[in-house]
Amino acid sequence: MRVTAKLSGGEGFVTALVMCERRRHIFRVSTGSAELDTLLGGGIESMAITEVFGEFRTGKTQLSHTLCVTAQIPNDTGTYTGGKASHMYLFNFCKVIFIDTENTFRPDRLRAIADRFNLEQEAVLDNVLYTRAFTSEHQLEILDYVAAQFHEEPGIFKLLIVDSVMSLFRVDFSGRGELADRQQRLAQYLSRLQKISEEYNVSIFITNQMTADPGATMSFQADPKKPIGGHILAHASTTRVSLRKGRGETRIAKIYDSPELPENEATFAITAGGIADAKE
Ligand code: ATP
Ligand code: MG
Repeated sequence: MRVTAKLSGGEGFVTALVMCERRRHIFRVSTGSAELDTLLGGGIESMAITEVFGEFRTGKTQLSHTLCVTAQIPNDTGTYTGGKASHMYLFNFCKVIFIDTENTFRPDRLRAIADRFNLEQEAVLDNVLYTRAFTSEHQLEILDYVAAQFHEEPGIFKLLIVDSVMSLFRVDFSGRGELADRQQRLAQYLSRLQKISEEYNVSIFITNQMTADPGATMSFQADPKKPIGGHILAHASTTRVSLRKGRGETRIAKIYDSPELPENEATFAITAGGIADAKE
């Protein structure tokens, strides 16, 4: 029997066998830290949305920068494990799109991270398409461009980063009574992201902020801080990871919600060369 693994969405039913064939193409992008990769079951998964959230300076943007580089290093098994590549030459078949809503992308950071992995700086930078979103509406429109790019160069793009996913929605829908509208637009945005991740087999990495739960102090909750975006974002993200500060430059990641990963923790470090394992 012939199994056609058509990757386009919206064609109605497919058999479980076809699904299986599709999912065989899933790859993972290394975070730069072996311990964090293990926590994530091997790295940032394709055909899925991985969300990290945490307070300021917990490393969300630094992780985004690191992934821009590690996504460009394929190994022999077809997974994208940064630093373990046998060949040090980059070809332009592993590209990344970075959508920045906070103006915190620093291309020079990629140079230092490229150095760590012995990669040619210019080649690494040349494979990262960067754009800045200024409003939530703009953030939505950019996905048309993203889909067009992915369509034009099939199989080339491995990773799409949105740093951060909620900040513009938060600004644009900050008034009283606007929450329902915000969540509706957010749902549209996330459903498009999901579709793109599956249709083009890319990893989607989004960062998110936290908020203090106003009811938490009243109820003496142990963990009063929650990611923003409500149940819409909770359901859209395949894997949710919380980040918190550890000693010095170390950070602790914890699986917050995942269909297949246990609720473990991992410690990593933010270094000049990007995210790495913490030294004992
Ligand atoms: P925010 O919520 O404000 O966006 P964030 O989670 O994105 O925060 P990052 O900007 O990723 O936080 O992390 C900031 C941390 O990264 C700081 O603790 C800083 O010391 C560290 N850092 C930034 N650049 C470097 C570098 N070149 N070398 C080592 N550490 C760095
Ligand atoms: Mg940041």
